[in-house]
Amino acid sequence: MKIRVRDVGEIPEEVEFEQDTSELNPRLEKGTSRDYECRVPARVGMTQYRTGRDLFFDGDLETTIVGRCARCLEEYELPVSTPFRYLLAPRGDQVAGSAGEDAEISVYEGEEVDLAPLIFERILLSLPTTPLCNEQCRGLCPRCGINLNESECNCPASEGDPRMAIFRTLRVDRIDG
Ligand SMILES: [Zn+2]
Ligand SMILES: [Zn+2]
Repeated sequence: MKIRVRDVGEIPEEVEFEQDTSELNPRLEKGTSRDYECRVPARVGMTQYRTGRDLFFDGDLETTIVGRCARCLEEYELPVSTPFRYLLAPRGDQVAGSAGEDAEISVYEGEEVDLAPLIFERILLSLPTTPLCNEQCRGLCPRCGINLNESECNCPASEGDPRMAIFRTLRVDRIDG
């Protein structure tokens, strides 16, 4: 979303818009795979106003990101909802410092401000490092590949399998008792 600097007045104004997020997808790719994908735009609601040449944008953004679970490889929807507060000063100007302590400070140049990079940054910051459909996701069986969230399989537990560790503990308990 590009906003013309002269359209930002001194009286705070409510603005709502949708920000296309498809440009974010190349940044979410990791080689041949990706953890997250943006398929719908972000909805942004904010208040904008100026003080002198400093521009303020204060609001919230909401979108839904599609994640691919690192354990079971299934896609799941991740709702993202995050507030933002930006002060944009013209490049080269001293920032007056009246933005409030929680505002992020950035710069603009020329007659237009592009809010897309700032919105993208907010979205990226709100994504977990490892995508998980659920904290308790049991993942795929390393032998037959079955999704263990959906059904059990009869594969023998391997050495590194946590199920095996439980058996080992039980056996020790029995000897001690
Ligand atoms: Zn999963
Ligand atoms: Zn299996």
